[in-house]
Amino acid sequence: MAQKVIILLGPPGAGKGTQASLLFDKLGFYYLETSKLIEANVMSAKEGDYAEVGGKKYYFLDEKKLWEQGILCSPPFVSFLVRQKIEDLASDGKGIIMAGSPRTLHEGEDQVPLLKKLYGSENIKVVLIEITPDQTIWRNSHRRICELMRHPILFSEETRELSRCPLDGSKLVRREGLDDPETIKVRLNEYKERTLPLVEYFEREDLAVKRVAGNQSVEEVHRDILQVIQ
Ligand SMILES: [Zn+2]
Repeated sequence: MAQKVIILLGPPGAGKGTQASLLFDKLGFYYLETSKLIEANVMSAKEGDYAEVGGKKYYFLDEKKLWEQGILCSPPFVSFLVRQKIEDLASDGKGIIMAGSPRTLHEGEDQVPLLKKLYGSENIKVVLIEITPDQTIWRNSHRRICELMRHPILFSEETRELSRCPLDGSKLVRREGLDDPETIKVRLNEYKERTLPLVEYFEREDLAVKRVAGNQSVEEVHRDILQVIQ
């Protein structure tokens, strides 16, 4: 049986990362995290390594400089890495969980035809975890991550008293900058302008987008996701 691709979408604070980790534990699919993929590639880059996209060369060491300065890497370079990884995973017969990428229409148009070709439309499951803008702001301003692995810890009744990561015991800290209310508003706006067109694109491509209520406990959201990806 062909493997599945699960794409999790949702505004900042919807719990995409947490749900992706739970799905990973449950299903054993590969969790394709763009940021980790970029990091692994630029960190092992050697002088002269390049990716050629659309006739232009993108040098890994140039991209590494951008990465180290906290600047976004060139989109064609990132897309090259993601496509290459998708092809490797498909040839290994692995299922994929994606959360946080594709995030824009451009990325979607770039990745979806490849995913369709390798996995088949019927095996691509798009899940939109919905929460309101107020919930996004509230959750993000209370969100913490662990120092060691950057596991995201959403604020909830279950986690409010935690001071250590339940997975590795390292200290929980706030993310500098990213989770300030002003920054969250910018990210929320970006979500509206860039990710919602992606949802429309998936629907035009005849990929069913399943909506799950994000305003529930982590376990309830997980249960709902398992149900809609059947
Ligand atoms: Zn941790």
